[in-house]
Amino acid sequence: MQTPICRPCAIGDKLCPACQSKLGSGAMSKLDVDISRILYKINEQHNLSIASFSHALDAGGQVLIFTPGEPGVLIGRGGKVVSALAAALGRRVRIVSESGDQRRSLEDLLSPVKVIGINEAFHAGTAIARIRLAKEDESRLKLDVRSLEPLVSKWMGKKAEFVFE
Ligand SMILES: [Zn+2]
Repeated sequence: MQTPICRPCAIGDKLCPACQSKLGSGAMSKLDVDISRILYKINEQHNLSIASFSHALDAGGQVLIFTPGEPGVLIGRGGKVVSALAAALGRRVRIVSESGDQRRSLEDLLSPVKVIGINEAFHAGTAIARIRLAKEDESRLKLDVRSLEPLVSKWMGKKAEFVFE
């Protein structure tokens, strides 16, 4: 299993110097640590050895769990894994795929809101992905898209911004 913290840290309740410094530098959050440990617990019952978890985001009403791998592994058969995650966190959980079709992943994330298009713009020589959403959909969004921008940027490999039109 791939998690932001190493295996011994995920199984134990202390952090090694390397994991401690990732936490201290902000490269990972306390939520990332908690979810890694929960996944190792769930792994005792459901085989998650091929699961990968990169980072989580507290999006207010729900916790978004990003995976660079196959999202079905973290959802589990009949949603067993995602239900166990939600129960352990006491929160609603959504698994978001970082691989494959970015537009589809974004729509999963923003559901039921659709993405009109993703355009690449250049600003001072830097590529910016402008994710276009309909103005009338703004009130239907369940999460604050501004808070998603840093994470979406990391995953798209370029600065991302949401625009309403
Ligand atoms: Zn560690």
